[in-house]
Amino acid sequence: MIAEEKITAAQAIELENEYGAHNYHPLPVVLERGEGVYLYDVDGKQYFDFLSAYSAVNQGHCHPRIIATLIEQASKLTLTSRAFHSDKLGVCEKYLCEYFGYDKTLMMNTGAEANETAIKLARKWGYLKKNIPENEAVIVAVKRNFHGRTTTIISASTDPVATNHFGPFMPGFEIIEYDDLEELENALENPNVCGFWVEPIQGEAGVYVPQDGYLAAASELCKKYQVLFMVDEIQTGVARTGKLLASDYEGIKPDMLILGKALSGGAYPVSAVMANNEVMNVLKPGEHGSTYGGNPLACAVTMTALDVIKDEKLAENAFTLGNLFRTRMEELKKESNLIHSVRGKGLLNAVVINDSEESDTAWNICVQLKENGLLAKPTHGNIIRFAPPLVMNEEQMEACCAIIKSTVLNFKKK
Ligand code: PLP
Repeated sequence: MIAEEKITAAQAIELENEYGAHNYHPLPVVLERGEGVYLYDVDGKQYFDFLSAYSAVNQGHCHPRIIATLIEQASKLTLTSRAFHSDKLGVCEKYLCEYFGYDKTLMMNTGAEANETAIKLARKWGYLKKNIPENEAVIVAVKRNFHGRTTTIISASTDPVATNHFGPFMPGFEIIEYDDLEELENALENPNVCGFWVEPIQGEAGVYVPQDGYLAAASELCKKYQVLFMVDEIQTGVARTGKLLASDYEGIKPDMLILGKALSGGAYPVSAVMANNEVMNVLKPGEHGSTYGGNPLACAVTMTALDVIKDEKLAENAFTLGNLFRTRMEELKKESNLIHSVRGKGLLNAVVINDSEESDTAWNICVQLKENGLLAKPTHGNIIRFAPPLVMNEEQMEACCAIIKSTVLNFKKK
């Protein structure tokens, strides 16, 4: 059977092309194994991972503690559905509440599902607590947002690639500028607004960091207008930006904290919405759920994955190494006019390439980086996101910056 045979890179790519939907455009590398900050392709070549599966593998590939928990729990009990209780769900819920400082959590699987959960919670809260007339609730979102791929979520998207030919769209979203408090206040004056839904740093869009104070002021505005502050930390959370949450930089506590990806260290799909009783208690049995949401395997893996974040001080490491990375990239910018700008926080960074948005320069640089042993990918157009696992050490980071430097300095535009 082909699944048991060792296949070549070319065969693997051909199989995906032939039998898989073409809904991604991967770099031409076929990976077989991962360990810590490293990935290995089918020919045994080693790479530094600078994507971390879109920030899901913050704890590093196949972290031994997370995998040990996965194996142990998988051999005991994996899924009960929520028709019954499990010995892990309540323990994990308590763990999450204490870890992030909320009364309650609702566990799901993917990031998109967590956002869907947040939307439903915000709407229901709006009808029950803010007396918004039925079916008239509005959620304010921002331009360039990325919250997932469901039909409701893309109804708030401003990216034509995400929306073209996928309508009709869900009503009830108002889209304003990101990082614009005046527009936000105008929007929140509408009494039918139940939530303001935002990423603290826009990751997918190209690592756009708002001005200092934006989140704190937005949080205040939400309080003033009795609107839920719904913060999507699926990409920024769990130590990625150099604090446990990107929200921590401004000392804010969202009414709804939306988490995913690194909650499980890349070992299993787990997402969650955290909220206090006033919000979470609007949900009644039967109104929301998911067969796999909060299953015992997810719960066990999540607790170990979050233990690893604290025990290995990964937020602190991301903070320190992020500063080192941006310093090296700023130095490189002085040597190469290929680099337009560098931005980010902790280990969520972007290098903007000096070329038009439509150019394939960033893609070609990533292909060259791959040849030189480092895997990264453009986000939008000419922006390369650099987001390695947070278990990297300083020596490895210097080696990576040297690879990026020599790749950029030797790069010849096609
Ligand atoms: N929200 C943000 C901020 C994201 O970055 C992503 C994925 O990149 C999602 C939501 C969607 O998560 P998932 O792909 O698990 O549905």
